[in-house]
Order: sequence, then C-alpha cells, then structure tokens
Amino acid sequence: MAVVEVEGLHKRYGETVALDGVSFTVEQGEIFGIVGPNGAGKTTLVECVEGVRRPDAGRIRVLGLDPLRDRARLRQVMGAQLQGGGLPDKLRVGEAVALYRSFYTDGADPERLLDGLGLTGKRDTAFEDLSGGQAQRLSIALALVGAPRIAVLDELTTGLDPRARRTTWALIEQIRETGVTVLLVTHFMPEAERLCDRVAVIDRGRLTALDTPAGLIALAGERTGVPATGTASLEDAFLALTGRPPEEESL
Ligand code: ADP
Repeated sequence: MAVVEVEGLHKRYGETVALDGVSFTVEQGEIFGIVGPNGAGKTTLVECVEGVRRPDAGRIRVLGLDPLRDRARLRQVMGAQLQGGGLPDKLRVGEAVALYRSFYTDGADPERLLDGLGLTGKRDTAFEDLSGGQAQRLSIALALVGAPRIAVLDELTTGLDPRARRTTWALIEQIRETGVTVLLVTHFMPEAERLCDRVAVIDRGRLTALDTPAGLIALAGERTGVPATGTASLEDAFLALTGRPPEEESL
C-alpha cells in the first residue's frame, strides 16, 4: 500500500524553480531516503508532503489524505523533526515531550522514548542547556511521541557523535519494524546506505534517480560507463548521479 503518493509536483519561488515535475510513491514500512545537493528542492518537497507549503501544481496524498485540505487529520498520523532550535529555552526535556504528547490522541510512552534515546537523565534539563547532540535526540523524540504512522526526519544524525549516531540508526530500524514509514532527508550518504530501502536523488528540482542503494550504485556505473566495483559506495553513486560533490554544499 502506498503511504505517500506524489504526482507531477511543481513549485517555484519567483524565478526559482524548486520542484519541476516530481513523482514517486512510498510504500508502507519503507525507510525512504531523499538526497540531493544543497538547493535541490528536498526541503520544499517534504514541506509540501507535510502540508506546510502549497505546491503550484501536482497531487499529493499521504495515507489517503490531502496534506493541505486534511492538515488537522494528517497531524495526528505524521511526526516531523524540528529544525534548528524551535523550543523555548527554559522548557525542560520532560515537559517538551509531555507537551508534544498532549497534541495527540494516541501516542508513545514518553518514558520509553526518552530511555530509547538516552535522554532519561536529562528529563529536568532546560532546552538551552542541552548539547547539540542532546537537542538533536530530543527533536527525534518529539517527532515520534505521537506514535506516528509516518515520520519525516530531516538531518537525523547531524551533530551526533558516532556512538549516538549508531544508537539513533538502530532506533529508526526498530520504529520501521513496527510498520512506521520513514521519510529521511539526509546529506550523509553512509546513513542513507545503511538505513534506506530506497533513495530518491533530487537534483535541480527533478527526480533524477530512484532505487535501492545497491540499485543506485549500479545505475551510476551504467550512466558513467564505469561499472561499479564491490567497494563502490552510495557516496560514489551520489557524485556520479548529481555531477557535484556533496562537499560543495557547505561552501
Ligand atoms: P534543499 O532542501 O534541497 O536545499 P530547498 O527546497 O530548500 O532545497 O530549495 C530549493 C530552491 O528554492 C533553492 O534554490 C532555494 O534557494 C529556493 N528557495 C527555497 N525556499 C525559498 C523561499 N522561501 N523563497 C525563495 N526561494 C526559496
């Protein structure tokens, strides 16, 4: 069953074309990656799926709901990760999770969630006193506290150390095992390779490839005429399929 259906999505900001005819579907229980160079249109795409941005043309259905028309119902079944801050400085971790839990009729057990993310000891810590990694884990907790059927995670493990990153990946895999569908926007190719069932490559507003990580590696070999070797990674494929290295994004 398709959980997300996107068909012919177009969006422009003035002269800038952010999305230029993007179509794909995401099946239930998939971890679906969205990768692409900076400015490719990834954020615009997920914002349209979340119903916080109106496309110029195209059709979106999430669990059969129209994200704009059925926004209130969608909120009950979709969890999204907060971007950069977004919480009052003095709000404590436990309070933030309880507050977000109160937005949902059904939800996860806050204690178990905090425990799974290694935040139990930080329950009484104010948001302003959290390290970058702890704030990041809190944003994941807030995306999951409504026990969503679909979770949109953006830059999931940015700022986490390798151990916390591994723990977070394991948590996402556990969540998937409960049937939750995950849309994962990432710049970090090892993360997409490790977690994603399929990965959409967006470049200049277009979907330029969509396949499993192994399929993308093979496709990059075909497109470049250099067959992929056993050691080829998704990062190699990303470079070949977008024609620009991910490092350029931070320049
Ligand atoms: P990504 O998430 O892949 O970096 P975005 O969806 O943020 O890409 O941006 C796609 C394009 O649209 C970029 O050229 C960006 O500068 C432009 N853009 C994004 N948001 C706005 C906005 N609110 N107003 C004008 N241009 C925007």
